[in-house]
Amino acid sequence: MKQISIAIDGPASSGKSTVAKILAKEFNYIYTDTGAMYRAVTYLAIKHYIPFTDEKGLVKLIHDYPLSFVQQIDGQHVLIGDRDVTTAIRQPDVTQAVSEVSAHRKVREALVEIQRKIGENGGVVMDGRDIGTSVLPNAEVKIFLVASVTERAQRRYKENIEKGIPTVLEQLTKEIQARDYYDSTRKVSPLKQATDAVRIDTTGKTISEVVQAIKEIVKEKGYFL
Ligand code: C5P
Repeated sequence: MKQISIAIDGPASSGKSTVAKILAKEFNYIYTDTGAMYRAVTYLAIKHYIPFTDEKGLVKLIHDYPLSFVQQIDGQHVLIGDRDVTTAIRQPDVTQAVSEVSAHRKVREALVEIQRKIGENGGVVMDGRDIGTSVLPNAEVKIFLVASVTERAQRRYKENIEKGIPTVLEQLTKEIQARDYYDSTRKVSPLKQATDAVRIDTTGKTISEVVQAIKEIVKEKGYFL
């Protein structure tokens, strides 16, 4: 059976990683959270006092500190070397700075190279902002997930509270809007729907409805996974 690539893009908290993880598990594919990679670089920059404007310094961090994903009972974990940073990269200091870090061309080139290697043989569900447009332009299935900002903020709020991350809803709404604006107006690989992506509005939809809709699209395209 052919191993295809599924690209899932969309704005912050539109449900990308939740559905991508479920699909990867069902299809026995690799799940790659590219946002976690930009977050890990941002985390390293904070720890090593590298200014977010220092493109060269940021790229050096990517080369000096190997990033990896490991599957554990409670889900996928993000490691820098052998240090588990899964929780640390979701903290507000990282979230606030990640869009600035990810806007640098050379930072993107270094991470996209790693992402393309992960996706080169298919069998991958990759989520991010530029997967369908830039990282995997030949992905067999491309999905663009959107949802109202109110619903996205509420989802992320609930998630953060469950994870013990202190959060104020109004602040979170503003942060999501700011990040979307920054991500979609940057010069290099801005967040935008690929011309051949299928747009799904997840507002008011359950996770399983969205997963089902994507599975239908995969089938309609002639792939039976
Ligand atoms: O997906 P997540 O919200 O964790 O992504 C964090 C940030 O990483 C985004 O707001 C964006 O700035 C950046 N990002 C990106 N390209 C990707 C994935 C994430 O620029 N493919």
